[in-house]
Amino acid sequence: MARLDLHLHTTHSDGSLPPAEVLALAHKAGVTALAITDHDITTGIPEALEAGAGFGIEIIPGVEISSRFGENELHILGYFLDWQDPALNARLAGLRDSRHRRNPQIVERLRALGCDLTYDEVRELAGTESVGRPHIARVLMEKGYVKSAKEAFDRFLAQGKPAYVPRDLPEPAEAMAWIRAAKGVPVLAHPLWAKQNDAGLFTLCGRLKAEGLGGMEVHYSTHNPKQTAELLDIATRLDLLVTGGSDFHGMTKPDIEVGVGKGGLTVPVKLLDPLRKAASA
Ligand code: AMP
Ligand code: ZN
Ligand code: FE
Ligand code: FE
Repeated sequence: MARLDLHLHTTHSDGSLPPAEVLALAHKAGVTALAITDHDITTGIPEALEAGAGFGIEIIPGVEISSRFGENELHILGYFLDWQDPALNARLAGLRDSRHRRNPQIVERLRALGCDLTYDEVRELAGTESVGRPHIARVLMEKGYVKSAKEAFDRFLAQGKPAYVPRDLPEPAEAMAWIRAAKGVPVLAHPLWAKQNDAGLFTLCGRLKAEGLGGMEVHYSTHNPKQTAELLDIATRLDLLVTGGSDFHGMTKPDIEVGVGKGGLTVPVKLLDPLRKAASA
């Protein structure tokens, strides 16, 4: 069935497959248009555009920026942005620098916990400037300290676990302003990560909309039908655009597939044109 996937990670951030291989999987899954939304980096987009031309898949330039929400994070997706915009890329470079300040502290904690690894090894495995905890998880896997990325997060890397170190994050309003300045549309990723009830999420999204939010990721790999319906209701009441995607990462989230998530995901093709219109408005 024709479908969209507006949330995909590649080797340019913490996904395990390069853009061309993600495109090949998308083609098999019937995806007609997709967004590459690597964390804090846009370098995967040229390769995606080239592969997309070969498969006849439209590529929407995207990015995902983590922002501060108390002790928690809100992730802001940006769509249809001018991915070559120098100001945007300078801001993303600043976010990647904050990763390089935090990650060695995580490695130090892991070493104190008895895991023998170095940040140079993590950087080499990552092979990109956007280095994240999933790369550290993969080094822990390769060295046999954990069996899966999930185990690495559950034992060491997740918030509240012994190797967790927070990093400098922008406020949601800043992240959205950067995306707007690059002519993109800011969209709240996986809204349930905010751990709010319906009323709380409505209030939060109303505030975010006043600060520049354009849409909400209603369709997502882990949403059940009831959650999807509740988010659709909030998006409709706030007049937010509706988007969706798998958040595919390859081996660091092995149960998530391109286009179909855990099997039940379908992001309707009709959602794309309103998003495109909002970006050109
Ligand atoms: P970072 O941006 O380096 O702080 O790492 C956060 C990223 O790790 C998220 O964007 C997810 O892609 C990934 N992540 C978070 N929790 C988990 C988990 N439990 N298992 C696998 N990946 C996770
Ligand atoms: Zn990720
Ligand atoms: Fe995210
Ligand atoms: Fe993501």
